Amino acid sequence: MSEALQVLHQEVRECTLCALHRTRTKAVPGVGGADARIMVVGEAPGKNEDLQGEPFVGAAGQLLNKLFGYVGISRDEVYITNIIKCRPPGNRDPLPQEVASCSAYLDRQVELIRPAVILLLGRHAVQRLLPGADGISRIHGQLVERGDRAYVPLYHPAAALYNGFLVDTLKVDFKKVRGYIDMIEARRAATPPVVAPNPEEQLSLF
Ligand code: URA
Repeated sequence: MSEALQVLHQEVRECTLCALHRTRTKAVPGVGGADARIMVVGEAPGKNEDLQGEPFVGAAGQLLNKLFGYVGISRDEVYITNIIKCRPPGNRDPLPQEVASCSAYLDRQVELIRPAVILLLGRHAVQRLLPGADGISRIHGQLVERGDRAYVPLYHPAAALYNGFLVDTLKVDFKKVRGYIDMIEARRAATPPVVAPNPEEQLSLF
């Protein structure tokens, strides 16, 4: 993990910006490498995540692992986090001020990792990173590009634990994700990076 990401994780562990720090066991910054090609953004840590300090370690996380396995994506390619880093008591929905307190952490994570694609799990993640977008039932599985960022809204795996038919929808959408990543990376490879001029080389012309 890069040093900048480690520093950020430590800041999250010590964060007291909102009231959730009083009820948490552990803050849950995220897991994965700074060079991950895929970033997953969920809603908030649940009970198991709060105890272990890692995102998606419970039943929803097991389904997420199976979905990645199903399309041949390994966990080393993925960085996983949530829009808020501490568990809301009783797993209630995150409050707007909690989302706002955590927003700079998520923005810095996206900036540091610069993934090819960001998977948004559930409506809270969609509202946070794609404000104004249609509901998840309309846009799940679609590639949404805003600026230089690419997002794919998906049903939250926890929803599929209650509504089994959503597992098939998630499988179809994860197959599409595989294709989107290949397409975005081919496009990145074909676009040469903008190299800033080296002032020493310019001087040597004279
Ligand atoms: N659900 C989430 O949205 N995030 C987790 O980390 C676990 C369950």
